[in-house]
Amino acid sequence: QPLLQLSGLRVDIAGRNVLKSVSLDIDAGALVVLMGANGSGKSTLGLTLAGHPRYRVTGGEARLGGQDLLAMNVEERARAGLFLSFQAPPDIPGVKNNLFIRSAVNAVREARGEAPLDAFDFLGDARAAATRLGLPEAMLGRPVNDGFSGGERKRNELLQLALLQPRLAILDEIDSGMDVDGLRATVDLVQSLRAKGTAFLIVSHYLNLIESLAPDAVLRLEQGCIAEHGDIELAREIARSGFVRVSEPAVA
Ligand code: ADP
Ligand code: MG
Ligand code: MG
Repeated sequence: QPLLQLSGLRVDIAGRNVLKSVSLDIDAGALVVLMGANGSGKSTLGLTLAGHPRYRVTGGEARLGGQDLLAMNVEERARAGLFLSFQAPPDIPGVKNNLFIRSAVNAVREARGEAPLDAFDFLGDARAAATRLGLPEAMLGRPVNDGFSGGERKRNELLQLALLQPRLAILDEIDSGMDVDGLRATVDLVQSLRAKGTAFLIVSHYLNLIESLAPDAVLRLEQGCIAEHGDIELAREIARSGFVRVSEPAVA
């Protein structure tokens, strides 16, 4: 049984239909790259699966490990092992980063029947992960994303990913704003989590990153539908020729 099973997923935002009929399976430990022109619905898919209330599912099914995702609220989805890194990670004023991440980690541990981490144990793990990600330790003690640069926000998303060890991680343009060291750290983290069974759905247009990730499949979303299902060759073709290539009429 695939870890993630989407069939005929249809989503409206503000009364407008954005995802038409998205069907997709992802196995445990598999890595799928999702590409598509601006506005094709990539972020909508991630936010819908994470349970954002603005995205209204009007048809189809979404299952994670056989459980009905659509029947769960945001917290229940996270406890079931779903993680979304935002395209634009928000500030959370007044909430310290380390407390925020520890409470998320402990909610997931509780759902798995594991004992919660105390502040001391958590801080040890968090410091080690922050170091691997090139994130200054001081950022653990600041409010979430408060004054963080674009690249630091993305690294902070990766810190959460590293500590949560979800069953399915959706990374929405994790590469935007990140420098070469950040990209290398991203690849290392993704591969180490994959080896432990985490599955990935990764939105990216950056061919170097996609090549390094060695995806099992590459999908192209077009106006809310999966228009192409391919492999790394599809990513190379999109990088070469862009998204318009298929819809361009032949020159008379
Ligand atoms: P992508 O991530 O592929 O660039 P999005 O999923 O962000 O695309 O957006 C898909 C479509 O939904 C776009 O046409 C966008 O304008 C629209 N959309 C996204 N969020 C909202 C919103 N909050 N209100 C209205 N329309 C939205
Ligand atoms: Mg976009
Ligand atoms: Mg987007």
